[in-house]
Amino acid sequence: MTNSFTNASAKDAGAAWLGGEFAGKLVVGNWKMNGLATDAKALVQALVAQGAGDKSLAPQGQGQGQSDVQLAICPPFTLLNPVRQWLGAAPLWLGAQDCHAEEKGAFTGNISAAMLRDAGCQLCILGHSERRQAGESSPQIAEKLAAALRHQLIPILCIGETLAERQAGQTLAVLAEQLASSLPFPLEGSGNSGGGATPAPIVLAYEPVWAIGTGLSATLDQIAEVHQFLRQQTAALGHVPLLYGGSVKASNAAEIMALGDVDGVLVGGASLNAEDFGQIAVAASTVLAGRSVSTAAA
Ligand code: PEP
Repeated sequence: MTNSFTNASAKDAGAAWLGGEFAGKLVVGNWKMNGLATDAKALVQALVAQGAGDKSLAPQGQGQGQSDVQLAICPPFTLLNPVRQWLGAAPLWLGAQDCHAEEKGAFTGNISAAMLRDAGCQLCILGHSERRQAGESSPQIAEKLAAALRHQLIPILCIGETLAERQAGQTLAVLAEQLASSLPFPLEGSGNSGGGATPAPIVLAYEPVWAIGTGLSATLDQIAEVHQFLRQQTAALGHVPLLYGGSVKASNAAEIMALGDVDGVLVGGASLNAEDFGQIAVAASTVLAGRSVSTAAA
């Protein structure tokens, strides 16, 4: 097994996505505040043993890299370094669950984007609803996102409506507002990661608050409507990979990822079980294989 993904710069991968070349699926595990060393080591070893992230997951006939399933796991800060070592040469990406906006200094208890990059991260989840509910604002998230980009971390920006907002018919308006105010650059397309011509590589995760950790996933129609809307909203930024998150499990992952504008999933609870997470990865691969078959037949 080669280590192509861990050696690749996240910025390069992001640029490939934004160039419209990303036809794969990104499956990201958010461990939240779970994991002590012994259990986490067993989980990572089980993932590696079952070939998660291996090219064996790639559908037959697909090319390397951009059409494959890319797996990532986001453990708590304390486990980033050991997880990186346990992963060895396995081509999973490593991500964090948050970062601070500042470079360094008197910010007790916080972790900077530079520290995450130094720890071997390629990704960083930002704006998760559990942090928004704890008081984090969209402008603060925008500053963190800028810090992540300065340090070549791909931010996974999370947005989502509450149940009350959905029931009031405000879903798309809430998402549009959260998206626009959580970015450190305008949605109109002049965004870049620090002066270059390439738009900033970001991943956007639609996570309805009412579906997170509740076992209640959004319906396929709801996901399709929102993702189509987000595709339009982000059109000027290039191809922004769009993830769905909210009670994704092995039994619903394939039908969700088969939706046209769903480029992958952000998985909480099910990512803590190697078999479940592996099955979600296989579901991603199966969807890609199905797509390539129907494309070939067309
Ligand atoms: C999450 O925490 O981002 C999440 C989607 O959790 P769950 O899959 O458990 O709903």
